[in-house]
Amino acid sequence: MTVNLLEHDLESLAAFCERLGEKRFRAVQLFRWIHQRGCSRFEDMSDLAKSLREKLKGVAHVKAMDVISQHISADGTIKWLFDVGGGNAVETVFIPEDDRGTLCLSTQAGCAMGCRFCSTGHQGFSRNLTTGEIIAQLWFAEHFLRKHLKRDERVISNTVMMGMGEPLQNYSALIPALRMMLDDHGYGLSRRRVTVSTSGLVKKMDLLGVECPVALAVSLHAPNNALRDYLVPLNIKHPLEELMPACVNYLEHAPRDFITFEYCMLDAVNDSDAQAQELVQLVKKYRNSVSWCKFNLIPFNPFPASGLHRSKPERVQGFAKILSEAGITTTVRKTRGDDIDAACGQLAGDVVDRTRVTVRIARQRSSELNSSPLDVPSDAKI
Ligand code: SAH
Ligand code: SF4
Repeated sequence: MTVNLLEHDLESLAAFCERLGEKRFRAVQLFRWIHQRGCSRFEDMSDLAKSLREKLKGVAHVKAMDVISQHISADGTIKWLFDVGGGNAVETVFIPEDDRGTLCLSTQAGCAMGCRFCSTGHQGFSRNLTTGEIIAQLWFAEHFLRKHLKRDERVISNTVMMGMGEPLQNYSALIPALRMMLDDHGYGLSRRRVTVSTSGLVKKMDLLGVECPVALAVSLHAPNNALRDYLVPLNIKHPLEELMPACVNYLEHAPRDFITFEYCMLDAVNDSDAQAQELVQLVKKYRNSVSWCKFNLIPFNPFPASGLHRSKPERVQGFAKILSEAGITTTVRKTRGDDIDAACGQLAGDVVDRTRVTVRIARQRSSELNSSPLDVPSDAKI
């Protein structure tokens, strides 16, 4: 079995090269060929010694997961479904905006956290992705987009771990993948442009702050324990009295001077004026000023099994107004890629199936749509 070099951050690639009897700088060259240039064929890596290229051919390869389908939204959002084997699939979403290109990555197939309003949570947990499977989503998307947009420079400027899964529950695979995103020889993203989103694994939040302090988003969704216990069952284990201090602690390491709280707006569940006021009190309880956090209100993306409904736009505005008037920077997330189900919480909703039946159907559908899933139709607006 040959090794997939996407599994290695620079440190571990250097160790791998050493085992082949090669110097460290060879690993830097190899890493740059793979991640900066998207090259997967050793014979094309022209500044590597021929002997090394030959050696690599025998022991290593560079390969992303197979793409089951690719959907392009009218607003330019692109969603890829990757086959991670065993009947499991994960999704990755590219969201282009005027001043940036954001890639939303999955870190697990399924999720064990069981949040009420999340379709990934409703599917249950299949398995952790490996480091290589996490970074492969970025490697594939970046080089695919460069090729199809005919751009030499970077297309993806931001990454967010907001796809399927709880990133901090897959901590040991996540950290090397984050390092590859930050590495100047890799994707060279600044810490403020890499965001980990968590439902509140407090010990791992502390560790992340020390080991790899990227931007942090915390899925709050409720202003008190009673409601949060119901919406985010992890709260029973780590209630707000643990979560909020962990957020405040993270500020010491955070690349920006605030934490982002995500708050999914659910009709008549967590969207009243009284609950907005309770949130303001919650934020004030842990610091004198409210400027230590920002709120991102996410209109709920409904799916039938949830039994929940999206808050009315007027309600979202009313809720946002209370937070804003208390001095808290509050944004309402634009829904993107609605026509291709690329929105939060809808990822891989209908594909994960251990019988592989749905995977096969999806594959069939994608081959009907495009002769190759990698051919972007020429009229597609990216
Ligand atoms: N597991 C991590 C990251 C993945 S979920 C976390 O929970 O933070 C990314 C974001 O999407 C989280 O804030 C999550 O609460 C939100 N989300 C999940 N399902 C949603 C849905 N149906 N509608 C809107 N947001 C949703
Ligand atoms: Fe898991 Fe996040 Fe979904 Fe909760 S919201 S079930 S933590 S992916």
